[in-house]
Amino acid sequence: MPDRKNRDEQFPLRGFVACGSCGWGYTSSYSKSRNGERHAYYHCFNKSCELRGKTVRRDDLEGQFEQLVRSMEPDPMVFEIATKMFKNAWTQRAAQMGARRRALQAESDKLDGSIDQLLNSVTQVKSQTVLATFEKKIEDLENQKLVIAERLAQSEQPRLSFDDSVRTALAFLQSPWKLWTFGNYEHKRLLLQLAFSKRIEWVLKEGLRTAEIALPFRALANFSSAGEGGGGGDWIRTSVRSEAGRFTVCWN
Ligand SMILES: [Zn+2]
Repeated sequence: MPDRKNRDEQFPLRGFVACGSCGWGYTSSYSKSRNGERHAYYHCFNKSCELRGKTVRRDDLEGQFEQLVRSMEPDPMVFEIATKMFKNAWTQRAAQMGARRRALQAESDKLDGSIDQLLNSVTQVKSQTVLATFEKKIEDLENQKLVIAERLAQSEQPRLSFDDSVRTALAFLQSPWKLWTFGNYEHKRLLLQLAFSKRIEWVLKEGLRTAEIALPFRALANFSSAGEGGGGGDWIRTSVRSEAGRFTVCWN
C-alpha cells in the first residue's frame, strides 16, 4: 500500500502522540483551505472522545516534539562510557563467534580426515556388499560436513565492523535530535521506540505532556542511579522491532 506508507512517512508521530483526553493514538490528515493550500494535522479519531475532530497543526506538534528530543542529549562523558560498553560487548561477542567457528572448522577437518581414510581403504575392498557399506558411510560423512558448512556460513562474522554496526545506535544515543532531524522514517520510529517508554499525550492548548524516557536514556542521563526495569515500546508495531531488539541486547 504505497499510499499508506507515504502518509505514515509524512507523519512520524502518528500513533505515538496520544490524545490527552481519551488516550487514543493520534491519526493524521491533510485539509485544504479555501485558497487551495494544503495543511497537515494530527488529531484524535475516537468516536466517543470529546476532542474528536479537534486538530493540531503538524508543525506545532512536531516542533514541540523536536524541542523535547533536543533536550535528550546525554553528557559527553556518559556517552564515552556507553561507547566503551558497546565496544566491550561487541568484542566479547566477536570472540565467542570466533571460538565457535574454530570449533566447527575443526569438526569439519576431522570429517575430512575420516572421509580420506575411507577413500584410501575402499580401493582394497572387493566385496560389493562391503563396498556399498563404505559408500553409505562416506555419504553420511559428506552430509555431516554439509551441515557444518551451513553452520559456518551462518556464523560468518563479523559481518560488519564495530563502527558500521553500532554507528547508528551510537549516533542515536549521542544526539537523538540529529537522528530525528536527519534520519529517515525508520530512524525516527526507532527513536520513538527506544527513547520513550510510553506514548506522550498532547493536551489541547497546552501541548505535550511530560514524557517518560526509556531506560537507555535514563541510564545515560543519570548513569549512577539504578534503573527501574526495561522501557515499554509496546505501543508501536513496526518493522523496526527486531532492530530495536538488537540494540536492547547491548544494554542488558
Ligand atoms: Zn481523544
